Amino acid sequence: MSTQTEDTPLVNGKPYRLRLPGPTTVPLRIREVSAQAILNHRGPEFASQLGEVVEMLRPVIGTANDILMFASSGTGVMEASLANVLAPGDKILVLSNGQWGERFISIANALFQDITIDKIEVPWGAAISGNDLKERLSSDDYAAVIAVHNESSTGAISDLAEIGALVRETSAVLIVDSISGTGGMEMRQDEWGIDVLLTSSQKALMCPPGIGIVSVSDKAWERIENDARRARFYWDFRKAREWAPKGQTAFTPPVSLIAGLHEALVSIHEESLQAVLKRHEQLAKALQAGGLTMGFTLFPTAPMTSNTVAVFAVPDGVDGVDIVKRMYKDHGSVIAGSRNALRGKIIRIGTMGAVTEDDIMTDLEHLEATMISLGVDLTPGAAVAAARATL
Ligand SMILES: *Cc1c(COP(=O)(O)O)cnc(C)c1O
Repeated sequence: MSTQTEDTPLVNGKPYRLRLPGPTTVPLRIREVSAQAILNHRGPEFASQLGEVVEMLRPVIGTANDILMFASSGTGVMEASLANVLAPGDKILVLSNGQWGERFISIANALFQDITIDKIEVPWGAAISGNDLKERLSSDDYAAVIAVHNESSTGAISDLAEIGALVRETSAVLIVDSISGTGGMEMRQDEWGIDVLLTSSQKALMCPPGIGIVSVSDKAWERIENDARRARFYWDFRKAREWAPKGQTAFTPPVSLIAGLHEALVSIHEESLQAVLKRHEQLAKALQAGGLTMGFTLFPTAPMTSNTVAVFAVPDGVDGVDIVKRMYKDHGSVIAGSRNALRGKIIRIGTMGAVTEDDIMTDLEHLEATMISLGVDLTPGAAVAAARATL
């Protein structure tokens, strides 16, 4: 099965293949539903659709909490979570092991003048250890601890069960960015003790970009209800919560995208959540096995690695920037490199959302041909064979 359709654009005559760690390819059935007539966002049809979206999201997130939705990219709800949970003068702890932890620090600095930001920093690709966190938590009084579930810049996974168990013992609220994890990797918000869980539509939920999703625990509401003046109006979680029981949002929601998300969730539950997570795991493993035959190594050193993005370190003598360019120009495959210190040293391929076995095999064929064209001595077909052997 392929996700290409009649309207797939061409790149030098080859079908355009969106293989990024977000945004991801949106299956036709979801795009078709998004193209339906716009509903009144205060009418009964939309209310029942939104209610069903929330109910279908619960098992995917693993929560009985209030689930709020905003028209935004992922960064929007990252900012919203800080604007709601933090108050002037607060102190926060950021667990930083990649690009997205750093973004939280930039947001906190932009929103508040008088906030104290501590961080636990480990090399990119590693994960923060429970012992380090435990020590910090015992000596300080944080309003919030901020972690990234799936660091899509490195492929490292945070051990949220461990982090959550430690933060639960303190008065701090645990904010987790699972924007590129939820829907592709197990998420058990309530069981793990995550207070504010953030995700968005354009990653494993295989929808167009534009919906930011937030699930908020009772512990987090206590801080959110503190009415110290801060930068929140559109983002005010209190207003969003007031409207939620009516099946409405405080302001006009992205009606078409919510319809698409409804269809995406129907399709996830048709396949079954367990099967979806298993498929992500198997396809990630297959792609990794294929990559290893070409001299790539896995970039992340963390004990747990991503099933939603494959992050490969590029072998010596090859420039990752050239790989990304040729994948696109010669094959129509759009993969990611890195925009930071790792530029040229890693490549990243999304394995989240509506990805199939065929997609992975095609990725490997294109990658092998690309490496050969860059002068690497490889046996054609070996990568696909190694990937197939894992399935
Ligand atoms: C994709 C992603 C984001 C979201 O970024 P936007 O471009 O604002 O949607 C945030 N965090 C992580 C870990 C991501 O993978």
